[in-house]
Amino acid sequence: MMTAEQYWQKALEIIMTELNDVTYTTFILPIEPVRYTNSMFICTLSIKIRAYKDMIKKYSATIDKALTQVFGKKMRFVIDSDLEEEENEEEEVHFPYKRSRVKENGLIDNYRFSNFIVGPSNNIAHAAAVAVADNPGEDDTYNPLFLYGGVGLGKTHLIHAIGNHISEYNPEANILYVSCEKFTNELIEAIKYKKTLEFKEKYRNLDVLLIDDVQFLSGKEGAQEEFFHTFNSLVDDKKQIVMCSDRKPSEIQTLTDRLVSRMSKGLIFDIKFPDFETRTAILEKKAEGKNISIPKDILQYIAYSITSNIREMEGALNKIIMYARFNNRIINMELAEEVIKETIKTSKSNITVEYIQQTVADFYKVTVDELVSKRRTQPLTTYRHIAMYLCRKLLEDSLEVVGYKFGKRDHSTVMNGCDRISALIEVNEEKAGEIAAIEKRITG
Ligand code: ADP
Ligand code: MG
Repeated sequence: MMTAEQYWQKALEIIMTELNDVTYTTFILPIEPVRYTNSMFICTLSIKIRAYKDMIKKYSATIDKALTQVFGKKMRFVIDSDLEEEENEEEEVHFPYKRSRVKENGLIDNYRFSNFIVGPSNNIAHAAAVAVADNPGEDDTYNPLFLYGGVGLGKTHLIHAIGNHISEYNPEANILYVSCEKFTNELIEAIKYKKTLEFKEKYRNLDVLLIDDVQFLSGKEGAQEEFFHTFNSLVDDKKQIVMCSDRKPSEIQTLTDRLVSRMSKGLIFDIKFPDFETRTAILEKKAEGKNISIPKDILQYIAYSITSNIREMEGALNKIIMYARFNNRIINMELAEEVIKETIKTSKSNITVEYIQQTVADFYKVTVDELVSKRRTQPLTTYRHIAMYLCRKLLEDSLEVVGYKFGKRDHSTVMNGCDRISALIEVNEEKAGEIAAIEKRITG
């Protein structure tokens, strides 16, 4: 079960694409999620925006829609001060399929191929996505298509672009975008209300299933089982499946072997961290989408300064635009520096990958060269994993960047190293103490 906060974060991602920046930052961001019931998502308004309650309610429909999408069932946004009247109403149990007659395909309109920038980090994944979008389900080699890569690198954008493209050229196609979380929730509801037949029907009648963040199938046996059958039935009928994940199928823990092999039957591509030119081009595209012209050197400055992921980079761009608007200033380098400095300050950035490597190397009396080398002997490998683990824990840098700085390893290697150390800490008190000591040295 996700917390209200987690659901809210996901909903914000959708709401953000629907409202303009000023509205979003002024009225939506200060809303605080409190809890949720079967059909209500209850929030509180911070003092800053309490006076604007009526104004905020104007955006209820947008918020409802986002919540409904995230939960996979009808959800209503309720402000806590309104709740007293609400709670007297008997809460009815809604079942997702009976209720909404509108065709809800879950696609976000803004995520298109036309505003997706192609560069060396994503060109192969992009080409595969285009191929699938042009001929969904037709080519066995592309079914399923599995895309993976680190957080905020464009997987969700690409998978929606596939859906939007298909729906544009074939409006009759029965397309569905769901997050894995939502798929699982629907399944649980279906079982609870004895509606598994409807559930099966809904999924097995699709022409295109786009399923995001499938790493969340980890540890969910029931959902894995159901997904496996849905999967087989769709592929057998030549229906297209596209999946996204933060790691390869073989690295999703506790995924059954047969599901791993099923997922791996088509094509698997990764999206890497984009280079500087691509990052700049993405920012240009985003600014263009907001109808704002921003000098190129400023976009380059943002692209240069933010190396965690694209989402954060975009966040910095939005912040700069907002600062300029609210303070009636023009967007220049001075303003950009101010905003970026503030952004970076809050993200513990005086610590770097290099600094962590040096500290770990010193602690174990090895050299940094050895630490990042290709040598895979013990205990060197463990030291390397410890350094990776601390990078992940203490830095905002993407795993791609961390991997690159550890002898050009890829992000899944870093992820595995980190997982090993997390496990080690659980069972080995002495090592846990050692690692805590190193961490203390780093953070001062
Ligand atoms: P992920 O699903 O991999 O975590 P998202 O698809 O949500 O990442 O991407 C995060 C943000 O970065 C989105 O706003 C998306 O539009 C943007 N983005 C990522 N890659 C690109 C790209 N190549 N071109 C344009 N925008 C991109
Ligand atoms: Mg995503």
